[in-house]
Amino acid sequence: MSNVRVRFAPSPTGPLHIGGVKTALCNYLFAKKHGGQFLLRIEDTDQTRYVSGAEDYILEALQWCGLTPDESSQNPGEYGPYRQSERKELYRQYADQLVESGNAYYAFDTPEELEEMRENMKKQGVPSPQYNAITRQYMKNSLALSADEVQKRLDAGEPYVIRINVPRNEEVKVHDTIRGWVVFQSSQLDDKVIFKSDGMPTYHLANVVDDHLMKISHVIRGEEWLPSTPIHVLLYRYLGWEDTMPEFAHLPLILKPDGKGKLSKRDGDRLGIPVFPLDWKDPETGNISSGFRERGFIPEAFLNMMVFLGWNPGTEQEIFTLPELIEAFSLERIGKAGAKFDYEKGKWYNQQYLKNLDSKIIAEQNKSVLDEKGITYEEGYLIKAIDLLKERMTFISDFWEVGSFFFQNPSEYDEKLVRKKWKDNIPTLFDDLQTSLSSLDNFTHEAIETEIKGFMERHNLKFGDVLPVFRLMISGVGAGPPLFEVAELLGKEHVISRMGASKEIFNTICAKENA
Ligand code: GLU
Repeated sequence: MSNVRVRFAPSPTGPLHIGGVKTALCNYLFAKKHGGQFLLRIEDTDQTRYVSGAEDYILEALQWCGLTPDESSQNPGEYGPYRQSERKELYRQYADQLVESGNAYYAFDTPEELEEMRENMKKQGVPSPQYNAITRQYMKNSLALSADEVQKRLDAGEPYVIRINVPRNEEVKVHDTIRGWVVFQSSQLDDKVIFKSDGMPTYHLANVVDDHLMKISHVIRGEEWLPSTPIHVLLYRYLGWEDTMPEFAHLPLILKPDGKGKLSKRDGDRLGIPVFPLDWKDPETGNISSGFRERGFIPEAFLNMMVFLGWNPGTEQEIFTLPELIEAFSLERIGKAGAKFDYEKGKWYNQQYLKNLDSKIIAEQNKSVLDEKGITYEEGYLIKAIDLLKERMTFISDFWEVGSFFFQNPSEYDEKLVRKKWKDNIPTLFDDLQTSLSSLDNFTHEAIETEIKGFMERHNLKFGDVLPVFRLMISGVGAGPPLFEVAELLGKEHVISRMGASKEIFNTICAKENA
């Protein structure tokens, strides 16, 4: 495929939802796969919906994801500006061209008149009234009014909008890579406003003009834009750009975890799951909706999870690096059906990535935790602890919860397990184990293992009698990383002292129960 140019075109009307990240990701992968360019265009023509901070948020989110645009306001190419408000002067000529060719018209209707038309139509049994080939005949526009009347109104400076002239009864066909041919009846379409009385284009005109001028080859966007596409197809035709019209691909929606409808910010708040890449602080309410970054996600794991919402590689492979995704990605393997959002699966992805992440990186991000607690440690020891712990972590921040025993004596013990295991002759026999472990010269995991196995044989004990007790003594809990390696890293001195100290505590716990 030659000259692939795709764009992500968010409107800064709020934080980037994960649906937006998925759109950006698919555009990015498609561009990289075909050696093309990935553009970021900010669609800010609707000043009434502008939310301060939203554009910065979008940039920061894309940066965190590693989806760096090849062209954007920050990194302009030859097709700038990349913010529609800065391209304002450019659109008017196309609106005028459309009026001149009869494919668009002036409309002077006031909001009250529009409302009245809708009410009348509803009374006549039309459930969703449109401004279309029928109703426009009765409205105040340049197709219904005389040329003189129109001129008079224009001369008087009366406010107007420009609407697209949608044909009365025609099939408008859209080719979509994911859905095939999608056919719309023009009688069902609205004569959309393409240019507003404030001198700004609407989304439809600005989007088509920019996609054309920026030489966009493929429009990859969310399914919610499919109903607008026939209007765009008409605009390409009316502007004489049909030959270079981009190919369309509308990505399936991300659904609520139960599959009932589109995933929303409210679902995130209700279910306590993030639906934004980064924390978002609502500028009006000050409420914070949590993001994947702050929840401890690794960007690659987040993207890996996102791409699977709608796409599959056609193989069993689930874990992909970004270069592997670029290689495997294709629009044809995206399904039409909405994809249920599964936060647990997202956590699983993070866990998989964490396992393979360099322990030094995890260590680096947890040093402040140790510093805050006033714990002194050696770098090498911390890294070895993380080597053992990372299999058991879902998030980088789980480190202290799963591994505090590497840095301080257990302050609590799993009492239920203590009661279950600290019984019969075990308390007495563990004195023997403590003695034999303290006589080890080389406190390696192999030597510890041999010693413990010898102890079990001597006393005819099973793994289940010994290992949980030993683990409880040195870590306070019943499960954790490979036990002998934990003991080796803690070192003989700590292991022996913890064995000694815990015996007393275990006796007290069991005595409490019997009292
Ligand atoms: N500005 C639209 C949005 O906010 C862009 C839709 C499109 O990609 O055409 O998603």
